Amino acid sequence: MATAVFYFHNYLRKMLKKEHGAGPSFLYHFNRKASIKDIIESLGVPHPIVGKLTVNDTEVGFDYILRHKDIVEASPLTPPVNPLVSTPLRPAPLERISFVADVNVGKLAFHLRTLGFDCEYGSNTRDAELVERAHSQKRILLTRDTSLLKRKLVIHGYLVRAQNPTEQLIEVMCLYDLKSRIKPLSRCIPCNGILVPVNKEAILNRLEPLTRKHYESFHVCQQCDRIYWPGSHQEKIVAFIEKILKALRQKGTQGT
Ligand SMILES: [Zn+2]
Repeated sequence: MATAVFYFHNYLRKMLKKEHGAGPSFLYHFNRKASIKDIIESLGVPHPIVGKLTVNDTEVGFDYILRHKDIVEASPLTPPVNPLVSTPLRPAPLERISFVADVNVGKLAFHLRTLGFDCEYGSNTRDAELVERAHSQKRILLTRDTSLLKRKLVIHGYLVRAQNPTEQLIEVMCLYDLKSRIKPLSRCIPCNGILVPVNKEAILNRLEPLTRKHYESFHVCQQCDRIYWPGSHQEKIVAFIEKILKALRQKGTQGT
């Protein structure tokens, strides 16, 4: 029977099935021809969260066929991850940063929209549909469900580790280095549509008397037609963004 040595680094080790997870490395026995991607997933680690794979100190892709006496090292996605750049594991880069969120990270989806990021989300979206959207629309799949990330169609995905939605947002922003891409008040938070400026005259009949009296600048959602204007709601959003930026700065100074 053939054998290979596997090293799983950092939090990937926690994903391993119990019989492999105790030490820093383990000997793997095999007698079938299989890609390294299939073997890694059979050991318990979903392939999208692997950031780098080396075999005998040479970087390889997921289609590498494991050979006798190979020494394999697997490292997790490590900040900053740039999905717009080709890597041996993901040779086809994304054309833009956008997300699709699983129901278990719904609040994270709304937080991402608040900062202007494109994040599709539906509370009734089924797993197969989530995966299909991530694949066909070339979006990063965000979830806390390990099995979802093992679906074959998922190329770019992330297993969100924090439980608190604000911490989840900071986690995702750090991972993909999104700080410079924030566009506050540019996206409709309930529907993910893009906000565009609109003349007050064009929507005058839809405004409450006090809003009509006190505000001059308006935006409308291209998708759901919801109207936005400056006010306490926007002040809350700006305060929220400042809180996130402060947390990111603190993380930066801690070097994490
Ligand atoms: Zn909308």
